[in-house]
Amino acid sequence: MSEHEGHLSPLLKQSSGVLAERGEGAYLYDESGERYLDFTSGIGVLSTGHCHPKVVEAAQRQIGRVVHAQYAIVRHRPILELSEKLGELMPGAIDSFFYANAGTEAVEASIRLARQATGRPNIIAFRGCFHGRTMGSLSTTSSSSPVRQGVQPMMGGVAFAPFPDTYWYGWDEETAAQFCLKELDYVLQTISVPKETAAMLIEPVQGEAGYVPANTTFMKGLQERCREHGILFILDEVQAGNGRTGKYWAFEHFGIEPDVVVTAKGIASGFPLSVMGASDALMAKGWMGSQGGTYGGNAVACAAASATLDVIREEGLVENARERGAQLRARLEELKTRYPEIGNVSGIGLMLGTHMVDGQGRPDGDRSARLLKECERRGLLLIKCGAWGGQVVRWVPPLIVDAEQIDWAADQFEAALEATR
Ligand code: PLP
Repeated sequence: MSEHEGHLSPLLKQSSGVLAERGEGAYLYDESGERYLDFTSGIGVLSTGHCHPKVVEAAQRQIGRVVHAQYAIVRHRPILELSEKLGELMPGAIDSFFYANAGTEAVEASIRLARQATGRPNIIAFRGCFHGRTMGSLSTTSSSSPVRQGVQPMMGGVAFAPFPDTYWYGWDEETAAQFCLKELDYVLQTISVPKETAAMLIEPVQGEAGYVPANTTFMKGLQERCREHGILFILDEVQAGNGRTGKYWAFEHFGIEPDVVVTAKGIASGFPLSVMGASDALMAKGWMGSQGGTYGGNAVACAAASATLDVIREEGLVENARERGAQLRARLEELKTRYPEIGNVSGIGLMLGTHMVDGQGRPDGDRSARLLKECERRGLLLIKCGAWGGQVVRWVPPLIVDAEQIDWAADQFEAALEATR
């Protein structure tokens, strides 16, 4: 390289030392041909694995036809087909879709829609949830300090309520749910009264905070309060959606029906695409011109997403997430009985977290970092999350992962636990 070789921003640190050259299925190869089992999925994006032949074929075919068919100017077939397929996957009432690129843009769109449709200013967000890095989404985010610090003040009109994190509180699900609903009622009584509250925005399974699921009592309680007061119920399925938890949408675990669903990541197997879905009637309450963007609903990304949804269905990837998730959880729970530094195993399906603690039971981000390095040395890529320097090692393999790969990964993790003691 020349002496003017460019550099990535020093603020953008990689969790591994890998220089990726190509990917195939659950594996990533570096430039020297070294193979890594990729249990990061590019932060939960590669639902169908790296370069699934059907997704690649659909994208290549579309590139040869039209790449940028701007949606404020024309329509294109892939976006229409994708909307058709999404309509079948979403709750009955949700039949209208707005497309953008990143998850955060779709969250922003849901906030705009909620404010416009209700004429109310406030959003109630929940402790620990992550919704993105642009200012509106960031203002509803509280998963860790690095994403918020130094950029305050945030957007106004956001009130935080607690999330039923059983491990944090040390309570069972029901006790945590009842406490959080009581606190939510306090917020609705004092900080954001119903007539000023446009929406409640929540992750059904928290991602960045440490793979922490909500529960049925709590989510039904939220839905009840939303329905009673005409507040919109927005589910952020950016990370937990598209089969990852063993149901197509994570909110299906809790028997609820949101008004708005936001998703991205796993929907397009690595192509940048995000979606905000609502009923046609709700969408129509937004203001004309308030939705748009130069690249949203890109034709190649939509073709890749359409193929991704086909692969998820044809290859039974939702069921695979459930079965392989149960296998992985059993392995991690067993390790927890022998390694007290695993304080908790959390999550649902193929969205699992091992919460590392020190001898006093305090969150141990340093141990997670050393575990990641040791696993990488052994050919397994993992990532971490959590508010205490990333104390949670997260398990987010592609949904195509097989039983042998799960066992191999768990073996490497056990060896890394030994090596980092
Ligand atoms: N919402 C959730 C639940 C996420 O996990 C993320 C990203 O990790 C986002 C929103 C933001 O998505 P993006 O990084 O594509 O903007």
